[in-house]
Amino acid sequence: MKYNWLGPLLRSLVPPIAAGLLLGLFLDDYGWSLAGGLAAYLAWHLYQLIRLHHWLKAYQPDEPPPDGHGLWGEVFDGLYNIQRRDQRVRGRLQAVIDRVQESTAALQDAVIMLDAEGNLEWWNRAAETLLGLKTPQDSGQPITNLVRHPQFKAYMAQSDFTNALELPSPLNDRLHLQLQITRYGNGEQLMLVRDVTHVRQLEQMRKDFVANVSHELRTPLTVIAGYLEPLLDNADEVNPRWRRPLQQMQQQAERMKHLLDDLLLLARLEASDSLQASQPVAVAPLLQAIVKDAQALSGTNDHRILLDAEPHLVLKGNEAELGSAFSNLVFNAVKYTPAGGEIRIRWWGDRDGAHLSVQDTGIGIESRHLSRLTERFYRVDASRSASTGGTGLGLAIVKHALIHHNGRLEIASEPGKGSLFTCHFPPSQLAARQALGNAS
Ligand code: ADP
Repeated sequence: MKYNWLGPLLRSLVPPIAAGLLLGLFLDDYGWSLAGGLAAYLAWHLYQLIRLHHWLKAYQPDEPPPDGHGLWGEVFDGLYNIQRRDQRVRGRLQAVIDRVQESTAALQDAVIMLDAEGNLEWWNRAAETLLGLKTPQDSGQPITNLVRHPQFKAYMAQSDFTNALELPSPLNDRLHLQLQITRYGNGEQLMLVRDVTHVRQLEQMRKDFVANVSHELRTPLTVIAGYLEPLLDNADEVNPRWRRPLQQMQQQAERMKHLLDDLLLLARLEASDSLQASQPVAVAPLLQAIVKDAQALSGTNDHRILLDAEPHLVLKGNEAELGSAFSNLVFNAVKYTPAGGEIRIRWWGDRDGAHLSVQDTGIGIESRHLSRLTERFYRVDASRSASTGGTGLGLAIVKHALIHHNGRLEIASEPGKGSLFTCHFPPSQLAARQALGNAS
C-alpha cells in the first residue's frame, strides 16, 4: 500500500509556519518569527521523543503509553496496540504449553526430553516413578548416568532406534519397561517409557501353558504309539479291515510327536533371550551329519545335495540349538524341492562374521509371505505342509535359535525358481579358526 506523505507533512508543518507568519505580522519581522516558530516546534518534537524513550525504557506490560496529540498521539497508540496484541498471542501460546505440559505430566507413560548429547532437559511425573529421575537435581545430567543398565547404554550408543528396548526398571526389577526413542529438531531425542510388566506376565503365562500342555500330552501319546507298534508289527494277526486305520493312526501319532517336540523346543528357546552355556561348535561336521539325514529324507526323490563348508570356522554356541536350526533349513529345502532338484549348503566366514546359506531349486515362496514365515504355524500352503509332515514351527525355531547366537535370518525367494535362506552371525560369535585340513 502506498503511504500518503503529503497529508501528515502538511498537518504537522502548516500550524508552526502559520503561527510564525502570524507572529511576524504582529512583530513586523517575518524571518525571526518563522525561525522562532520552527524552533518551538522542534522543541515540542524533542519533548515527545524523550517521553517515548522514557516509556519504552521503563516499560511495564500494563502501563499505557503517554498521552500525545497529532502524529505523536497516533505513534503512541499504534505501539500500544501492537504490544497488547503480542501480549494476547503470548498468553494464548502459554495456555497451550501449560495444557500440553499438564496432560503429559498426567500420562501413565514416562515422557523424557533429551538434548542432542543425551542430557536430560524435561520429564514428566511418570519418569520419576518408572526410572527414578529426581526433579530438579537430575536436570542436565546424562541419562546414561542415571539408568545404568548395560543394555540401555548399548541402546543409546547406537544410532538406529527403530526397535524398542525392554529392560527391568532401575527402581524395581520386577517392573518391565519398554523404551522407544524418537529423534526430533537438531538431534534432540524424545524417549517414551511404558510399563509392560502385565504384557510380559501374560506372555509368560502363554509360554508356560504351551510348554505344560505339550509336556502333559507326551505321556498319553507315548502310550498310544506304544500299543500301535506291536499291533502293526504283527499285522498278519490283525483284521485286514483295521490295517489301514492303524497305519494312519501311527502316522498321525508320529506327526503329533514331532509337533510336541517342536513346541517343547520352541518353549525352551523362548525361555531366555540369550544363550546360557556357550561352547565351541564345529559347524562343518555338524552340517555333514545333517546332509546325511537330508539324503535319507530325500529317499527316492534323489536330490543333489552339495556341501561347501570352511572346516576351521568354529562358532560359539549350543550345538543342539544350532543343529535344530540348520537341519530345519536343510530339511525344508528337501521338502519343498521337487524330485531331482539341487540343494547347495555353504558355510563361510568373512569380515562381517560367519554365514550359512541353504539354496534350493524348489517351489519358491511369493514375496508377500516372506516377512511372516518365521511366525509360529505360518504356512504358505497348509495342505502342502501337511503332506510334507511340516509342523509350521520349523522357521520359528530357526529364528529363536539364531537370536540366542546373536544371528539373524535372511530369506530370498522366487516362486518357481527356488529359495535362499542365509543365517548371519557377527564376528563376536566366532570361536576360532582352527588349523585343520581343507574344506570338505
Ligand atoms: P513347515 O513345518 O510347514 O515346513 P516352517 O516354519 O519350516 O514350517 O516353514 C514355514 C513355511 O515356509 C512352510 O510351510 C513353507 O510353505 C515355507 N517354506 C519354508 N522353507 C521353504 C523352502 N525351502 N522352499 C519353499 N517354501 C518354504
